[in-house]
Amino acid sequence: MRLLVVEDEPDLNRLLKKRLEEAHYSVDACLSGTDALDYLRGAEYDALVLDVMLPGISGLEVLRRLRGAGNGTPVLLLTARDGIEDRVTGLDAGADDYLVKPFAFDELLARLRVLLRRAGGHTSDVLSVADLVVDCTARTVQRGGVPVALSAREFDILEYLIRNKGMVLSRDKISRHVWNYDYEGGSNVVDVYIRYLRKKLDEGHTPRLIHTVRGAGYVLREEV
Ligand code: CA
Repeated sequence: MRLLVVEDEPDLNRLLKKRLEEAHYSVDACLSGTDALDYLRGAEYDALVLDVMLPGISGLEVLRRLRGAGNGTPVLLLTARDGIEDRVTGLDAGADDYLVKPFAFDELLARLRVLLRRAGGHTSDVLSVADLVVDCTARTVQRGGVPVALSAREFDILEYLIRNKGMVLSRDKISRHVWNYDYEGGSNVVDVYIRYLRKKLDEGHTPRLIHTVRGAGYVLREEV
């Protein structure tokens, strides 16, 4: 899952990126509202962590423009302790949640999980299709009750597929949600990982769950 972090305080910005990457998110991070709007024009994010107090274009203005453009990406605002008005304005402007600085990192992670769950229409981080069970928090996978070991990248792609199960996802879309701007592998790499995933998850099992839709991409679903 790919996140955009917008925070103008350099130390906190670096720390957020580092900790979120340790939690296996792909993260782009920027320091201003102007940069945030650029990033948002160029990529698709699964959620935004958006500081309210930014120089120039404020976090609230970024949020307003985002929602004004019909973009419903979940937004978690970071606000100051005395920023009650910002919180209310932010929620009214379409923010999904907020955290008051300073915050505990575990709480940030928990709130992000809620946002991502809600955005996908899920009530749990344990998702399944047929006898495939994926625990997105513990990052474990089972097929037919047997644990399957996946690499970090394989898991990232499987997580994206199962969070969007039944939807056909293009290679481009998959790579844009799984990797951040620092990654230069391109969308062909997706094919390679899909091959690995099929070998580990589908070979020797019925039904097959990872399907190629010619000219369109891949879909995870149970079908005959
Ligand atoms: Ca700030």
